[in-house]
Parts: sequence; structure tokens; C-alpha cells
Amino acid sequence: MKRLHLPALFLIVIFGITSCVQAKERTVTNDNKDMSAKTDSYWKEKLDPHVYEVTRCSATEAPFSGKYWNNHETGEYRCSNCGELLFQSTDKFDSGTGWPSFTKAEGKAVATKEDRTHGMVRDEAICSHCGAHLGHLFNDGPQPTGMRYCINSASLDFKSSKNTEKK
Ligand SMILES: [Zn+2]
Repeated sequence: MKRLHLPALFLIVIFGITSCVQAKERTVTNDNKDMSAKTDSYWKEKLDPHVYEVTRCSATEAPFSGKYWNNHETGEYRCSNCGELLFQSTDKFDSGTGWPSFTKAEGKAVATKEDRTHGMVRDEAICSHCGAHLGHLFNDGPQPTGMRYCINSASLDFKSSKNTEKK
């Protein structure tokens, strides 16, 4: 019986990776035309398949599965696609959701856009620089901002301030 299931699974995975409709339709208005104008095939080639699926197809990683939800180190969280600084560890808090959560973003690095998928109305959080899908923004966070940026680990690249040498 396993023989029957494996090809089906394989097809589902391939379909999921190759048919990223949202990425092609995505339009982001910002000042830096260089990164936001990159094509879907550019990102598909550049990014790890899991990162591509989250940041370019707006997939959501399973809670408690990402590499940063439980990261308590001091440092910076940069965009996994373009390297832009998005969040500081000092603004990270334990939301209990299983996703990295922040009370505020760095300057105007994170843009938002209305997202009406999955029967909900939410604010999608996007990298202003390259248009990568990061996660969602909610207004039930702790004070003083009251905001909760619920972000996928796959959208982030953490740079510890303890270890500043190049990789
Ligand atoms: Zn970016």
C-alpha cells in the first residue's frame, strides 16, 4: 500500500512548491525597487524551499517548530530574504503561541497589508524592503505598544550580538 501513497505525496509536495500563485500576484509599493522587483524564479532559486514557501507563498510554519520561537539570545532579527533589519531581541516576548513574537518592528522595516484568507481579516506583516511575507500583526500584545507581531522563524535570520564575527 505504501507504494500508492508515496507518489501521491510527492505530487502534493511538488505542486505546493511550484504553484506559488500569491508570489506572482504580490505587488509591494516601496522606495526600493531593486529588491521588490525580483521575480518569483529569483527567490525560488535563492531560497531554501521551506523559506520560499513561507516568505513567498505566505505559508505558516507549524507552531513550536521554527528555530526562533524559544530563542532568548540578545541580537538582531533580519529578513531571511534580503537581510534587512526587522526586529530587535529586546522587543521579543514570550507570547505562548509557538511563533517568535515582537511588540514592535524596527523603524518602518515592516509594512502591513490586509489579509482576508482563511476566513479571517488580519494584517499581514511584510518586509518593506523585499516584500517577503513575515507573519501577521495583532493588537493584543503587551504594553507599551499593545502590538503583537507574530512572525515565522523561516522569515527571520538571527544575528547574535554575542558573536559578531562573520560566519
Ligand atoms: Zn526582506
